[in-house]
Parts: sequence; structure tokens; C-alpha cells
Amino acid sequence: MSNVTMDKIVNLCKSRGIIFQGSEIYGGMGNTWDYGPVGVEIKNNIKRAWWKRFVQEDPSTYGVDAAILMNPRVWDASGHTQNFADPKMDCKSCKQRFRADNLIEDHSKGTVSAEAMTNEEMEKYISDNKINCPHCGNFNWTPIRQFKLMFETSRGTLDGEKDVVYLRPETCQGEYVNFLNIQRSMRAKVPFAIAQIGKSFRNEITPGNFIFRTIEFEQMELQKFCRDSESFSIYEDYKAKAKQFLVDLGFSEDHLKYHDHDKLAFYAKAACDIFYLFPMGWSELNGIHHRSTHDLSRHQEYSGKAMQYLDPVTNEKFIPTVIEYSIGADRLMLAVLTEAYNEEVLEGGDTRVVLKFHPAIAPYKVAILPLQKNINEKAIELYQKLSKKFMCIYDESGSIGKRYRRQDEIGVPYSVTIDFDTLENDTVTIRDRDTMEQIRIPMSEVESYIEQRIQFN
Ligand code: ATP
Repeated sequence: MSNVTMDKIVNLCKSRGIIFQGSEIYGGMGNTWDYGPVGVEIKNNIKRAWWKRFVQEDPSTYGVDAAILMNPRVWDASGHTQNFADPKMDCKSCKQRFRADNLIEDHSKGTVSAEAMTNEEMEKYISDNKINCPHCGNFNWTPIRQFKLMFETSRGTLDGEKDVVYLRPETCQGEYVNFLNIQRSMRAKVPFAIAQIGKSFRNEITPGNFIFRTIEFEQMELQKFCRDSESFSIYEDYKAKAKQFLVDLGFSEDHLKYHDHDKLAFYAKAACDIFYLFPMGWSELNGIHHRSTHDLSRHQEYSGKAMQYLDPVTNEKFIPTVIEYSIGADRLMLAVLTEAYNEEVLEGGDTRVVLKFHPAIAPYKVAILPLQKNINEKAIELYQKLSKKFMCIYDESGSIGKRYRRQDEIGVPYSVTIDFDTLENDTVTIRDRDTMEQIRIPMSEVESYIEQRIQFN
């Protein structure tokens, strides 16, 4: 992450087809972003790596893809209709709206947590530390007011009749309401988890540090249903697994830290976030929560269905405790881009920007670069073969140096050049993105050479 700033990441994302402002030609729409051809590959690879690690490799975890629109009673049971609100403050000078807790945390670069503060304490902190409006620089705040975070829409089955429904603000309710379905259909034994990757929507107040905080985002999360007696060891286990996943993706441990919550929800028994050193400072990347039996108990109360598990050995019936592990795919994308971003001064004095992703995350695994246009037949042949296995890029325009730079900027781990020797002896050169070293190998070995190096284990 050498010399990285948010501006550099945003500019690179725009110029290299990674992420664009949402609805840009209409002046944009605040806090929405569109993933471009390169970005969608990176994000899909992030989701694949997560699913592989937490679902595919764990026989006691079952995947679901639940509906975004749910029976509104779900949100009564979860408490969202009553309580899901943020403390907002408006700047009276420029009319921008902010979250009071974020103002404090951003101002202190993540060293002060506003989690446990009351509204009065937050107002006092903002006034004592003279935190000015980040937009216009004035100190002219309204008092704190609560701001509802759920997006409402309506569903009408008859003309004129409309019922309020909500865009889900979190994916996990899709797992809770399917607890019985999955336990029975899959004959699942406690402890088992239900996992999901899907979109959530929150009417967030604070303009959000690029894709760090958006109003529409994807969550990758799982709910582990267990006996209370084993719940703390499972909680610790997920804290370790969540961090290991990031380290295996190539994150430096120096850029990650655990942050135990100062204040717990009344039902929670423990909660911990993993913070990452984003360009704007230390901020939450993911959360691991011990939620006791709260969620299933509430659904039992509101649905009238017994959300219990019958232990096949002891015949004991109980409502399982839930351990939740949740990470935003977009927030992880920002962290991955930050961690991978490097500026390196080359021998001739030029600087190269290179995204040193884990190869499994890289948008394209290989670039195929014919040195001359008139030898592109072999190159096209290689592209056609390799693109059946993984994403490849074909680039025949510009000097080879410029073409390498373009691949470095989007993190393509290998570049293959086809030259006149290829026509004679069917060998090609492979250049490594990180070391820039080149080796010559038979063209027939390129596929296995790359395949061996792009796995996420
Ligand atoms: P924050 O305190 O940053 O608002 P949170 O504690 O409300 O987050 P959770 O509800 O626990 O977050 O959601 C789990 C994860 O989903 C977060 O750790 C984060 O990675 C991601 N996430 C939450 N809200 C957003 C958002 N508005 N935009 C992007 N990602 C989000």
C-alpha cells in the first residue's frame, strides 16, 4: 500500500474500468457506484474466495440466496422498524447531513469510538473538539436527531391498495427465517451455519468515503447456530478465521486489528470488529457477534413457529445461540484495492502503479501480448485456449512497455508475449507482475503454469 490515498484509488478505478460514479451522465447519485468490466471481475473473485473458504470447505455450512423483499413482520421481529436509526446532524451553512458518530471517529482517525456515547456526549465531544463541517468547514450544527435507515417501498395487489415493504437492510434475516427449512431439508446437526452473499440497502446519512459506505451494498455473512455451551469457542474461532481469510488474501497483519465493542446490544454477549487501515484511517472492515438466542427467540415470538432444535442424542429441545460473522463485499473490495496499491520507481526513473493482488483476486489472470500485429495468429490461438479456463486479456496496441504498465495497473499477474521465436519453436515469455522477471517456456505449458499459481487456498 505504498503512497496510497483515496483520490489515487478513485482515479485509478475510474480510468481503468474498475468503478464509476453511479448515474454519472445525470450528475451522479450520491453514494452509488457502478462496477465496470474490471471491477466486476475483482468483486466476483472476492466473493468466490469467501464462499470457497467459508462454504465450500466447511461441510457444516449451507448456502442460501433469500429474497430481498420480506414479510414486513420480519422487521418488526428484528427490531428494525422501531430502532434502526442513526444520529444525524445537519450543517446549517451548507445543508449537508452527517452522522455524529462518524464525525467523531473520522476526526480522531479511528482512535475514539462513539459507540458507547449518548447523543448529549456526542454533541459535547463535537463542540469541545470544535469539529467543523467536513464539507464547508463551518461550525454551525443542528442538534442530533434520529434518522431512519430503512428504505421503504410499497406493494399493491389491488388498485389503490398499497402496503409498505422494505428493502432489506441486512441479509441475515434471510438465514434466520430459513433456519427450520434448512435444518430439516439438509438434516443439519447443530452446530451448523447458514451463509449468504447478497445485497442490502441502508439510507445512510454520511457521504461515504467511496465504496466504504454506500446505500446499496453486498454483504457476505454467515450465522452459526450452536449450543450455548460451545458458543464462545465458536465465536473465538470465527474471530481467528475472519482474520486468517484476510491474511491469506495478502493483507499485512500490521494493517489489521481487532476492536472489541465498548457497548453491547442488550441481548449480545460479545462483539468484535476487525479494523483495517483504510486511506482515511482505521475503520471497521467486518464484524463477529455473539447474538445469544435473541434472533430465533424473536422470530418464534412473532411468527408463532417453534424455532427449536431437537438434539437427536439427548432429546433436549432448545433455541440455538447464534454467532454471526459478516463482511461487506464492497468494503472488502476497497480494502483489497488499498492493500494492493503500490507505486514503484523503476530503473530508468519512471514510476509504475501496480496492484499486487493475490492472483485469485486479479480480474484477468493473464494478458496475451503479440509483439507485432503480423504474428497475432498464434496469440489469438493461445487466447482462445486459455479463455476457456480463466479470464484473459488480449492487447496488441502500443509499445510493449505501455502494455505492461496497463496490465500492472489492473493487477494482471502474468503477461505472455508472443514473438518471432514463438513462430519457430512454440515458446513464449511469461512476465511476473510483481518481480517483472521473465522466463521462456513452451506455449503448451502456459495453461498449467498459470493454473498452479492462481488458486486461493
Ligand atoms: P458501520 O458501523 O460501518 O455502519 P455496521 O456495524 O452497521 O457498520 P453491520 O451491520 O455489522 O455493520 O454489517 C456488517 C458489515 O457490512 C460491515 O462490517 C461492513 O463491512 C458492511 N457494511 C455495513 N454497512 C455498509 C454500508 N453502508 N456500505 C458498505 N458496507 C457496509
